[in-house]
Amino acid sequence: NNRPAPVSLSNVSKLYGQQRATNAVNFELYPGQCTVLAGHNGAGKSTVIKLILGLIRADEGKVTLLDHDAGSSQAVRLRAHIGYLPETVALHPALTGTETLAFYARLKGLPTSDNQALLARVGIAQAAHKRVGTYSKGMRQRLALAQTLLGKPRVLLLDEPTTGLDPASRLLFYEIVQELRDAGATILLSTHALAEMERLADRIIVMQQGRKIADGTLSDLRQHAGLPVRIRLTV
Ligand code: ATP
Repeated sequence: NNRPAPVSLSNVSKLYGQQRATNAVNFELYPGQCTVLAGHNGAGKSTVIKLILGLIRADEGKVTLLDHDAGSSQAVRLRAHIGYLPETVALHPALTGTETLAFYARLKGLPTSDNQALLARVGIAQAAHKRVGTYSKGMRQRLALAQTLLGKPRVLLLDEPTTGLDPASRLLFYEIVQELRDAGATILLSTHALAEMERLADRIIVMQQGRKIADGTLSDLRQHAGLPVRIRLTV
């Protein structure tokens, strides 16, 4: 397989003042794999995701997304192929579910109709025409997930997607991630939840203070004597 990786980071550092939010980070992500990004608060997980999206630019090194420099105008034009679920999603309370998806579809340059099936897939078809302000937290997160699935993205970046989610929504979420992975998507998911690593991770990248300190399968990491105990206990 000589195709370039859909996502690649080569020696990537992002500085906030003197602090390196990421420090010489290297990895590549491949189609049909779900990679979990693990690490404690402040380890640099969200920064990695934002660098891949091009929301922020690297100070050193190179980030490539679908063959283009992340953040370049060419990469921005690929937004229809990228699904991003931020840590906190701002949904407008006055829009209905259907209108919310139409709004995101327009942002991505996709057709604004035909989103009923997506609402059904995340189990909120019955609330399609209700305002988001009346939704429960689980329903809002399902809608946020539906937004990331618009246009069948080739790359999915999910930032702590199931934090605070009810068990049924969580299971649905796992099922959808597995389905997308099996369909060949390249998935990066940040989480603290061991259950999620066990269920979803083909590979785990562990970050600590901006550095990648481990990279492998869950069983690799469990045997990784070099990992700090505090981290080994969480993977
Ligand atoms: P969390 O699990 O809390 O989201 P994280 O692993 O995603 O943590 P990041 O949000 O990537 O961590 O933050 C990495 C480091 O960079 C932290 O020390 C954070 O304080 C710092 N940082 C992140 N964004 C900024 C910013 N806009 N300005 C200054 N420092 C920042």
